[in-house]
Amino acid sequence: MMDNVEHSPGVREYIRRGQVMLAAEAARRAEMRTKKFDTIAVHGLYGMQAALQNQGSIIEPIYLSSAQAFENSDNMEAALAHLMPAWTYSRQGNPTVHYLEETISLLEGYGYPGETGALVTASGMTAVFMATSPFLTVEGQGSRPMNLVAPARCYGGTFMLFGERYGRERGVEIRWVVDPLDLNEWAAKIDRDTRFVYGEMPSNPGLHVFDIAAVADLAHSHGLPLIVDSTVATPALMRPFQHGADIVVHSVTKSMSISGFTIAGALVARHDIPSRVGPDELRANFADHVRQTTYRDHGPSLSPFNALLALNDLRTLRSRMDSLSRSAQQVAEFLAGHPKVEAVFYPGLEGSATHEVAAHYMWLADGQDDYGQPVNRFGHLLGFTVKGKPENARRVLDRLQLVLRAADLGRIKSLATIPAISTHQQQGEEGRKLADISPSLIRLNVGGEHPSDVIQDLDQALG
Ligand SMILES: *Cc1c(COP(=O)(O)O)cnc(C)c1O
Repeated sequence: MMDNVEHSPGVREYIRRGQVMLAAEAARRAEMRTKKFDTIAVHGLYGMQAALQNQGSIIEPIYLSSAQAFENSDNMEAALAHLMPAWTYSRQGNPTVHYLEETISLLEGYGYPGETGALVTASGMTAVFMATSPFLTVEGQGSRPMNLVAPARCYGGTFMLFGERYGRERGVEIRWVVDPLDLNEWAAKIDRDTRFVYGEMPSNPGLHVFDIAAVADLAHSHGLPLIVDSTVATPALMRPFQHGADIVVHSVTKSMSISGFTIAGALVARHDIPSRVGPDELRANFADHVRQTTYRDHGPSLSPFNALLALNDLRTLRSRMDSLSRSAQQVAEFLAGHPKVEAVFYPGLEGSATHEVAAHYMWLADGQDDYGQPVNRFGHLLGFTVKGKPENARRVLDRLQLVLRAADLGRIKSLATIPAISTHQQQGEEGRKLADISPSLIRLNVGGEHPSDVIQDLDQALG
């Protein structure tokens, strides 16, 4: 904190109180970091002390309030100068939103020895935007355009943000990696004008993978951050910081908020990340830096009401991802053996092109506590192509009775879509070819139903 000399005795008293508050929160955070994944997911930073300060409420209260009132002008001055922790105004911070941020930060940092920080946003796309745009500054730009390196096999919204908003509208050169398993291709695309390296692991909808540790080493050797979208895995199955990633983004909308009540996103960053641009604060604590700059000035905050909905679903993330992954494995194996199915894309299928790399990275957190030894789990998203003309895939989709037709995933209800006519429709045929998305591809989110009922529905639809 700033030197106290210039401040009045009243402001100094609030700075002192703020330091006590920060120390208490740091102690709670340190205590929770010694706990297991499920314990963190259930309690987060909201312990007995916080409950007693909130009339004993065992559940985190929703602070449905636009702003915070202050005791006096000294309190206000200290708070607005960031000299003490305060939330001030719900565009910049909110106590309920803060509980969600701290839980996500702890879960994503689980097993990683360093410090992490999180910022939650009104959507996953906002998190992708907040995680990437601070690197695309004019600072240090020479005569050649700045560029970013990312696999084209990514979420349709990200493809459009990078290709259209950054590429076409702002002149950033987008260097799409065609085969994310080819390390030489990543290496060949990075140069002195690259600002960041980005990848989805696994990707939506193709379930493509990349070697996080190898790409992180490559990015770091150029002084660049690696940003990973691990929405499909969730922190229950994979935590990229352990493998060298610098920033992780999530569509919290998906498996993390499995009930489907809200759209939400999160940006999580480890402290002390590399970057060729930006002030020291950006490198020291990226999440906090974004909160004080891009986030404050763009205003993409999450409603406290929605934050609590997400927080509530997160409490059971690990056990859900375990059981849903096991169901998805059964469904994938059924599809792989079906005569009308051309190919199945699921990293859990042995012999699939993605299995080896996925099996290296995707483990159920604390899996040994349930199964006696670590277990691989591959999530509940899969894809399959139907043999014959693309109309056949449409016919299968149209015949589904239990599985809902919806452009969504990460749900407790099974859902299916054809990405070429839904989530990846905007990017056009050429963009889909680049991203390797066949018009016959059906993306399937396996929900919490009994897997035999999901299989029966798929069987009748394929028949
Ligand atoms: C859905 C999704 C996003 C975007 O998240 P929203 O919450 O829909 O804005 C980003 N990345 C991946 C992998 C996604 O599946």
